[in-house]
Amino acid sequence: MTSTPLATRGLYIDGGWTDGTGDDPITVLNPATEEAIAEVPQATVEDIDAAVGAARRAFDEGPWPAMTPTERARILAKMADELQRRRAELVELNITEAGCTRLISEYLQVGTPIDHFSDLATRVLPQFTFEEPVRPIIGHGIGQGVVVREPYGVAGLITAFNFPFLLNLAKLGPALAAGCTAVLKCSPYTPLEALILGEIADAAGLPPGTVNIVTGDVAAGEALTRHPGVDILSFTGSDTVGRKVYAQGAETVKKVVLELGGKSANIILDDTDLDKVMESVLGGFITHAGQGCALQTRILVHQSLHDELVARIVGGLGFISVGDPADPANLMGPLIRDVQRRRVEELIATGVQEGAQIAYGGGRPAHLDRGYFLEPTLFVGVDNGMRIAQEEFFGPVGVVIPFRDDDEAVRIANDSRFGLSGGVWSADPVRAVGVARRLRTGMVVINGGGGGLNPNSPFGGYKYSGIGREFGGHGLSEYLQHKALQWPIG
Ligand code: NAD
Repeated sequence: MTSTPLATRGLYIDGGWTDGTGDDPITVLNPATEEAIAEVPQATVEDIDAAVGAARRAFDEGPWPAMTPTERARILAKMADELQRRRAELVELNITEAGCTRLISEYLQVGTPIDHFSDLATRVLPQFTFEEPVRPIIGHGIGQGVVVREPYGVAGLITAFNFPFLLNLAKLGPALAAGCTAVLKCSPYTPLEALILGEIADAAGLPPGTVNIVTGDVAAGEALTRHPGVDILSFTGSDTVGRKVYAQGAETVKKVVLELGGKSANIILDDTDLDKVMESVLGGFITHAGQGCALQTRILVHQSLHDELVARIVGGLGFISVGDPADPANLMGPLIRDVQRRRVEELIATGVQEGAQIAYGGGRPAHLDRGYFLEPTLFVGVDNGMRIAQEEFFGPVGVVIPFRDDDEAVRIANDSRFGLSGGVWSADPVRAVGVARRLRTGMVVINGGGGGLNPNSPFGGYKYSGIGREFGGHGLSEYLQHKALQWPIG
């Protein structure tokens, strides 16, 4: 293994840097300029084998899983300090490779995950219950016992491009806190925010092989998910690939956690003050150019408020400046790649063919001649059965659907194969909670209240949106096995 610094963008395996065994590197682009900003290796099946081998040794022989939670927490707290120290650098990386606007990058993409990681190391892990006594049952001849929660083993972690740093930490943090060792395979579009974690793990003193970071795409992902040395998979991405990962993991009976797509509904009941909803409604499809799994891209509004709301959204979109995400004046940046932009454009064309009307946008911004930009786009005249109401755009497109009463709103919201998030608005919070409880979805934001990214609040979906939860104690639990120990009384 050669020892090279991050500048050459190698793979991070067994505590060192290597160029890998492939000869087909990945060129990383800045989606706002289309310029190449780095090259990273395309990990081969042999490279994945080396990474899993290192993680396996570090689990089976290494100190990490055998350390007490307090010892692990101490090292993870150092890692949190190191993340904090490099925060500004991480924000610049995120803007450059993910194309996210500065404000969202500083807050959601980088700030929130560092805060969550720090909270995990300093509060969640030290307070977590790893051992619970088993209550003896008198008269059954059953003795005393304890249930111990043990690390699941080697974790294979696969992430998407849209919130790369957040997703990487949302998996790596709890996996390490549980005592697992890990191989992280990030999106081929956004490898730089993953590879830097190798330097950060080194600086914090994680034992070699505890964290391994590889770059690659389908072949690397398949090799990792099929590898017999991996015990648990945690995947974030589309439901199409998620189903493949589920099947690939089944071959060796791995535990599989899936965080997949969404088409969440934002329900605006008839007693809502529209002044209060505009930020949520606009943010629901333009945040990070619509590249967010939990965004509320289906806007369900009571028919009495429909025309007024559409007029306000169209008015608001006129103020959304699209352009260079590094410039804080811009509120929307590019899509990640041209292939993604073309996919969104095809789905927009389908909407028009299906009979929906474009109330705003629909094309590429005339003032930008490079970068994968699209205009924010609003559809009206939408029926929930249309493809544009059922499929994830993963682009800056919202659809407005009117409803007659609360029952119909719930029926439309639940008429989706996804169930990741949602919103409900009403002047009557009790009524809003009642509607929220009827939604088949993992999270509901009521009257714009926070919660989705609260470290105590589990993040994950129903139906095709996934299996399992991330964040805080819920996320940590996914990486633990339960072992029952029993002995006779006396
Ligand atoms: P994607 O499914 O195309 O790719 C995700 C990852 O899977 C990438 O790292 C890719 O290289 C890898 N991969 C591709 N084929 C594979 C295979 N056969 N086996 C193993 N790995 C394979 O997703 P994307 O385009 O990167 O991200 C967008 C999707 O992610 C959207 O659907 C979005 O909703 C979803 N997402 C979900 C969450 C969540 O927490 N629920 C968060 C962010 C994004």
